[in-house]
Amino acid sequence: MIENASVTHRGAVLLGNSVACDAYAEDRPLRVVTHAHADHTGGLRWSLRECQKVVMTEATRDLINVLEGPLGARLKTIEALEYGQPMRFDGETVTLFKAQHILGAAQVLVESESGERVVWTGDFRLDGTPVLECDTLVVESTYGSPSCRRAFDVDVRKLFVQMVEQRLKQGVVYVFGYYGKLQELMQLLYEADVHVPFVMPEKVFEVSKVCERHGMQLGSLTLSTEKEAKMLLGENLPCVAFYHMNSRGNVGSANERIWVSGWEFHRPCRRIGEKEHIIALSDHSDFDGLIEYVRQAKPKRVITENHGGGHGETLAKEITRRLKIPAVAMPCKSYQATIA
Ligand SMILES: [Zn+2]
Repeated sequence: MIENASVTHRGAVLLGNSVACDAYAEDRPLRVVTHAHADHTGGLRWSLRECQKVVMTEATRDLINVLEGPLGARLKTIEALEYGQPMRFDGETVTLFKAQHILGAAQVLVESESGERVVWTGDFRLDGTPVLECDTLVVESTYGSPSCRRAFDVDVRKLFVQMVEQRLKQGVVYVFGYYGKLQELMQLLYEADVHVPFVMPEKVFEVSKVCERHGMQLGSLTLSTEKEAKMLLGENLPCVAFYHMNSRGNVGSANERIWVSGWEFHRPCRRIGEKEHIIALSDHSDFDGLIEYVRQAKPKRVITENHGGGHGETLAKEITRRLKIPAVAMPCKSYQATIA
């Protein structure tokens, strides 16, 4: 039984006495949103109505305002915290730290008056994420199984750039991915001097504009509804079209297409059609990255977040076996099954 942290069946990560992260929880006056992906903003409108404070980074606030539709007057309820800026709340201190995942993503540290440290990693990729030493660690578990390892010898980011460059000779290249990752890919191409127009639908465009306002350099962005974009796509001229993963059934079927997915572990690149490839690029740690974070954080106890579609139970077992640190998965899925 871990008293200062748990995960509810709705997916709220409870830390200390007051904080609920990433889903709404009754009786928790302080809501934290670690990042703007939809599986971490559950019940946000409830939280904005019921909680004393709703805390996130400024970039996450701006992204949510685009992704969830304008929050209007409720935006004012949100307290934007910078990384490393401590906030006192009812005898505890809450601090956000960078998580390498999407723009604005944060880990959450709650310290009690007696100095007990409780951490929720949120979603993260190990490189670029500072490891927070703590007593109790709640860790994400998306790729928490030993079968989820990306031990490639190649630089997948470089490979992506090369693939786009080669395919641009044939005209439009379509790239499919999730919000946040698409913008990372634009930045990657821009930094590699791939200076063709980047075409995108409205929501991808708006998310990209938020990323630019927060310091990312993405290149020449064009809305797909604009005349210039229609001409580029219609005449198959060299440009990169960025679409959300969910649009991959609808656009670019005659063109070169690249999807970017984290669920690829055996090869950095896999051909799935005549002109279609999947590239293994993730903004989550693989199994080795998760174990390494736990090892460096040196917690006395671990909870593996088991609400999403990850491998919480396997990860808990592996942490206990490999690192000799007691670990449990929460919420317990088998319990959930018996009460359903
Ligand atoms: Zn995420």
